[in-house]
Amino acid sequence: MSLNKNKDVFDCLIIGGGVIGCSIARYLSRFNINAILLEKHSDVCEEVSSANSAIVHSGYDPKPGTLKAKFNVLGNKMMEQVCKDLDVPYIKNGSLTIGFNGDDKKTILELIERAKINGVKARFIEKDELHNMEPNLNEECLCALYAEDSAIVSPFELTIAFMENAMDNGVKLSLDSEVINIERDIDNGLYHVYTNKDEFIAKSLVNATGLYSDKILSLIEKPSYKINPRKGEYILLDHFNANFVKHTLFMCPTKVGKGVLVSPTTSYNYIIGPSNELTDIEDTSTDFETLNEIKEVASKLIKNIPYGEVIRTFAGTRPNPDTDDFIIEESKENPLFFNVGGIMSPGLASSPAIGEYVSNLIKEKLNLSENLDYNPIRRKVFKLTSLGKDKYNELIKKDPTYGHIICRCEKVSEGEIIDSIHRNCGARTIKGVKKRLRAGFGKCQGCFCQEEVLKILARELNVDINQIRYKDEGSEILKYPSKGE
Ligand SMILES: Cc1cc2nc3c(=O)[nH]c(=O)nc-3n(C[C@H](O)[C@H](O)[C@H](O)COP(=O)(O)OP(=O)(O)OC[C@H]3O[C@@H](n4cnc5c(N)ncnc54)[C@H](O)[C@@H]3O)c2cc1C
Repeated sequence: MSLNKNKDVFDCLIIGGGVIGCSIARYLSRFNINAILLEKHSDVCEEVSSANSAIVHSGYDPKPGTLKAKFNVLGNKMMEQVCKDLDVPYIKNGSLTIGFNGDDKKTILELIERAKINGVKARFIEKDELHNMEPNLNEECLCALYAEDSAIVSPFELTIAFMENAMDNGVKLSLDSEVINIERDIDNGLYHVYTNKDEFIAKSLVNATGLYSDKILSLIEKPSYKINPRKGEYILLDHFNANFVKHTLFMCPTKVGKGVLVSPTTSYNYIIGPSNELTDIEDTSTDFETLNEIKEVASKLIKNIPYGEVIRTFAGTRPNPDTDDFIIEESKENPLFFNVGGIMSPGLASSPAIGEYVSNLIKEKLNLSENLDYNPIRRKVFKLTSLGKDKYNELIKKDPTYGHIICRCEKVSEGEIIDSIHRNCGARTIKGVKKRLRAGFGKCQGCFCQEEVLKILARELNVDINQIRYKDEGSEILKYPSKGE
């Protein structure tokens, strides 16, 4: 196979378009830099960052002194402003870590001490106050740790917004680009990165490949850690009642993790899960037995969960490293190779802080100057669901496509879909539209709107409708011409 050789020598090449790679790209764009991000899928946010609990943890849980504690606490502090700047859904709903007995109470008191060391607000709540805060809690819930700074965010929109803002400020993106080899020229120190179709040359590299970060590192040196993927299965309920559960409800954490939670999402759906199973790296299946175990634990927290409202089940895979902490460092063997691996939970919460930290490291090493034109604000996304009636009517007068509803479950208009396609890091696929706007996320799971979204994508991208895919290559929706055409 002959590769296209990219003539540019990039200052920095980021591998991986999850929330970590995209955040690094965004913060790097504060500097004068020629940077590019490579992602093997047809869109950003397709792996770990797309299937998680979406909690901006407050930071009381990670062990003091770890990178997890440091970046979680910083990331939590940054997230609200970041979401304002990038117009990303964020709700500071607070979390309750529930205790059922004396042992749990002891754990909660220890966690409150840990919170103090980490510099995080956390207080002990007795039964009466707890049940006032969450009327649908099970009677057996005895006490809780209340972390008022815990929040929820839309992980898809955050990741996409990071990348869009990075591109608005000059960073490039190459999708469908799977890195298969890396070489370092010892004469000039430049890295040669080979993908399935191109060769890129860069002065510095960032490995932000989530579940694959040890494999990518092994292309250039012996990795010092190993990723042990652990699957988390979830049940997702519809947005049937905005007050059913207001806070994020956790069980007391154990050695293997934070356990099953029940939480609202930023769209007022309810998420229940995750499980915690060792798994194959590509396995995102869900199974009846595990889902039933999740239901059993969740019913200890909340009474009468209306499982008739279930929309779907899904699974995400944790990139847990055997070191049990984030790995964020420059390689000792390969200068200017920055390894940002093993970013398990609380990686989403930590993402702005990791992006800022890694980009500052690169700035120092490459002696970059400030980008005086840097604009941290992303152009607003008009969403019918968040516009008042008057503003909505005004918008329709200006552009009638906003009055044409395509997704009835989530109330998404044609105008919003067109806008999502024509932005930087715009939607190219059915799933891309779903992640950006929630079209297809509702109860009918796209049964009514998918055909319309397909036509809009083909028209706006000016390609044949047979080329439009659900997600990656091979997932074309219309494989063959219909009706004998
Ligand atoms: C079940 C579960 C629950 C979680 N809950 C929370 C939570 O509530 N709060 C929280 O803070 N964190 C949570 N997390 C953790 C959080 O989701 C992760 O820390 C974060 O998403 C990791 O992002 P990433 O960018 O490192 O990885 P990814 O999102 O996986 O991004 C890596 C990217 O690299 C790309 N890539 C891989 N190999 C190559 C290659 N060879 N060439 C090009 N591209 C490549 C992949 O396609 C992928 O897009 C949870 C995780 C899981 C699984």
